[in-house]
Amino acid sequence: MSDEILVVEDDDNIRQLLRISLRTEGYRVSEASSGAVALSLFEANAPALVLLDLGLPDRDGMEVLARIRAAGPTPVIVVTARNQDEQKVRALDAGADDYVVKPFSMAELFARIRVALRHRARENDAPAADTARVHVVGGLVIDGETRTVTLDGAPIHLTPYEYSLLLVMVENPGKALTHRFIQKAVWGYPAADEYKTLRVIMASLRRKLGDKPAAPRFIATEVGVGYRFIGE
Ligand code: CA
Repeated sequence: MSDEILVVEDDDNIRQLLRISLRTEGYRVSEASSGAVALSLFEANAPALVLLDLGLPDRDGMEVLARIRAAGPTPVIVVTARNQDEQKVRALDAGADDYVVKPFSMAELFARIRVALRHRARENDAPAADTARVHVVGGLVIDGETRTVTLDGAPIHLTPYEYSLLLVMVENPGKALTHRFIQKAVWGYPAADEYKTLRVIMASLRRKLGDKPAAPRFIATEVGVGYRFIGE
């Protein structure tokens, strides 16, 4: 059976467009125009993914996100208005898997949905604490056992922080990761310098990967948010 997507959106036109497009793409769709309906449908249907507009009439979309996240790992892609960087960051830190900004293209939305579903499927399959795993991504080979990295066949030498940073990025392909998320994953404690250290080490890592900020091969900047690994 195809995956069901719960669309939470109070704008009738957008919701209808999403329903038609997602069905054409082969998904089953359930719809809610309020947070209350969204939560009851979520509990009743256990959808594979939730597309959540954060601007809802009856309650804060962040509250809906928190309730979904508390229930389990169902992927959530939030929909935000333009120029709402702070909202995006808050949603990602609260456990949203990704975001799209209105107006978004269906092609972009479908790509984000595929990544979120694939990522969750892989998490379900992966054995716990799989540190010895080898990652191979487009010319980049990371050997978790020896902690060595090669790029297009040539070894590159990373500092321990650069290596940890790369690993966090590679293990979350396609997802926008906030500075706060990355900071916590690499250092284990909050940044006291507004992520200046993180930015410096990221710049150095990208240089070693041959990544040009304007046309990155591996790590893209998400303006106002953090970074995204362009995996596959
Ligand atoms: Ca809305």
